[in-house]
Amino acid sequence: MPLLLSRAFCFLQSSRPSMAHFSTSITQKARLKGVVFDMDGTLTVPVINFTAMYKAVLGDQEYASIISQNPSGIDILHHIENWSPDKQQKAYEIIADYERQGLERLQIMPGAAELCGFLDSKEIRRGLITRNVKEAVDLFHLRFGTAFSPALSREFRPYKPDPAPLLHICATWDFHPSEVIMIGDSLKDDVACGKRAGAFTCLLDETGRYDSPEFDSVDLKPNFKVSSLTEVRSVLEANFDLIS
Ligand SMILES: [Mg+2]
Repeated sequence: MPLLLSRAFCFLQSSRPSMAHFSTSITQKARLKGVVFDMDGTLTVPVINFTAMYKAVLGDQEYASIISQNPSGIDILHHIENWSPDKQQKAYEIIADYERQGLERLQIMPGAAELCGFLDSKEIRRGLITRNVKEAVDLFHLRFGTAFSPALSREFRPYKPDPAPLLHICATWDFHPSEVIMIGDSLKDDVACGKRAGAFTCLLDETGRYDSPEFDSVDLKPNFKVSSLTEVRSVLEANFDLIS
């Protein structure tokens, strides 16, 4: 055995009290200390018609061209970032208008309160990351009756799918990202953010839209997929060490 390899082997052997201990440790479930939620379409029932909003901002033709190049979805905020100030202002007004309509119809997602009660009972921290504005988070907190902390809105830059907001929450909690799971209904924002940060990811896919063939080629796979928030508890119980 080459010297380097034999040294590495010895190190592994000596750092391991016994093989029995080793086999226990590799089958051990990961410890879960925190859950970070997306807001729109995850903790609240989706009411914003994103396709209509994108078309209103981009125009039908540009929308069709962009969606054909981005099968997993459009990053509208990123897309308008380099527009001229006038054009950008108009786009933000259209987005704000759609978001305002969404707020008026805000509804808490079924299963959200029960899941949060379960997490609280296990002393698992709850955070929130949204690409929506702080005003929307404040209204959600008011309606939900209990706060997520930290709750980062669009004012925190860079926003999802950048991992920065999730890494910020992990740092605030003093948890390693591998002790945290990101749950959201968007593959391109929530799952991408979670994976880039090194956290576990759970995709909420209520309608089974991510089962369609167009997503086969998308190189982004969540660790878990659920069709409702009520399924999350059993996923966590089956896959993680939740002893508080
Ligand atoms: Mg969402």
